[in-house]
Amino acid sequence: MIYVSTRGGVPAATYSEIVLGGLARDGGLYVPKEYPQVSKDTLWTWRSLSYAHLAMAVMSLFADDLGRSVIAKLCQETYTEKTFGHGRKGTDFAKITPLHPLDSELSILELSNGPTLAFKDIAMQYLGALFENLLSKRDEHLNILAATSGDTGSSAEYAMRGREGIKVFMLSPYGRMSDFQKAQMYSLMDPNIFNIAIEGDFDDCQDLVKEINSDLKFKKQYSIGAVNSINWARIAAQVVYYFSGWLQAVEDKDEEVTFSVPTGNFGDVLAGWIAKQMGLPIKRLIVATNENDVLYEFFRSGRYRIRDSAHTYKTSSPSMDISKASNFERYIYDITGHDSQRVNELWDELRTKKEFLLNATEWQKVKESGFVAAKSTHAERLKRIREVWDKYQFLVDPHTADGINAALKQRIPGIKTICLETALPAKFAGTIKEACGFYPPIPEGYENLLRLPQRVEVMGIDQDTVKSYIAENS
Ligand SMILES: *Cc1c(COP(=O)(O)O)cnc(C)c1O
Repeated sequence: MIYVSTRGGVPAATYSEIVLGGLARDGGLYVPKEYPQVSKDTLWTWRSLSYAHLAMAVMSLFADDLGRSVIAKLCQETYTEKTFGHGRKGTDFAKITPLHPLDSELSILELSNGPTLAFKDIAMQYLGALFENLLSKRDEHLNILAATSGDTGSSAEYAMRGREGIKVFMLSPYGRMSDFQKAQMYSLMDPNIFNIAIEGDFDDCQDLVKEINSDLKFKKQYSIGAVNSINWARIAAQVVYYFSGWLQAVEDKDEEVTFSVPTGNFGDVLAGWIAKQMGLPIKRLIVATNENDVLYEFFRSGRYRIRDSAHTYKTSSPSMDISKASNFERYIYDITGHDSQRVNELWDELRTKKEFLLNATEWQKVKESGFVAAKSTHAERLKRIREVWDKYQFLVDPHTADGINAALKQRIPGIKTICLETALPAKFAGTIKEACGFYPPIPEGYENLLRLPQRVEVMGIDQDTVKSYIAENS
């Protein structure tokens, strides 16, 4: 499997070569030159596989240079009931990503039973094991620099804590995360974990990471790496649970399902798009947004119009308060028919005009791609949380509620719709209280989290301050 940049300006590379870095040197994102194909017959034989074996089957298609035995070891080490057994009482944690039917056509794919109670653990725990393996082979070390709107940060830190050769420098928007999210990150006392709160929003944090990464000298000198959702290994690891969800939902190998996916940086739903390209029978991919509706607007009009931080609203599904979807370029690259010149043109336009409009051919391809979108307001979010609780005694978090809301607006009768669960309700207690009148249950082992001492550095939106901190502590 060979990887190329969406901007076409760097030599082709292998999986092991690209997964430790962030953006390609030309500013683009690495993508496989062609998506691997899985026939329906092969797919059907995967029914009996455990999650770890399924992960191995899917990921070895993307990481053929790693060797099957290495991938097998990483998957078996990662996808255990011990790591992914933190969710609701009575859940079959052995399945890692169990499908929970609400009714005959609507179900929830539980992805949030990992250590930080959010779906990002599924890819990030694998990434931690992968990084440690690659670094020890090469006798290298890595300083991970990343931005988080809440869940990426804790997920990365829990995946990397205590790992050999790895330090984590995590930028988070000061005062913009839930108490639970803050407590999860800032209470970590591992010496290889550094929390930096930036006096700005998530996009400011993300821009800082991009700026620092574009200083190639600094990047090289301090071995700066990334774990953001642009990281290819994360995307590939997320493809796996689309296969798992489909395998648990369908009755025969031709049955198509729809996935509804709460979306921010377009990482999670991109993995679904890739699964579809590989041959997984997916009818629709529903992009669920909150009031920050850049992607909703795009899938209705073909116009991608990013917003600045002043126009990025603080909502009750905060992990989706994103107005620039960093993985989106990978999808557009596919829509242009892998035309990197066109991608450069569109992203140049985006830089100068803050928006681009697809041409008629491209827009036609978007409409045929299976993507649809729906947005949710705060009131709808609350209503869905309450409704799902009243009707099914299943408590969902605000992001998952956006996914359910979008599913109910965009599903096709007769076709099963799987809503991806992105976090457990315990992470967003205030919103659950507002919706249902009670606080969500706290999973076992997390009762004292909010009372633990916290450790964080607060900084302005200034790359030099961040750089000197990294230089001092790396
Ligand atoms: C990260 C996250 C999202 C958005 O996922 P993307 O891959 O960025 O689209 C949605 N909900 C929760 C709870 C998240 O942590």
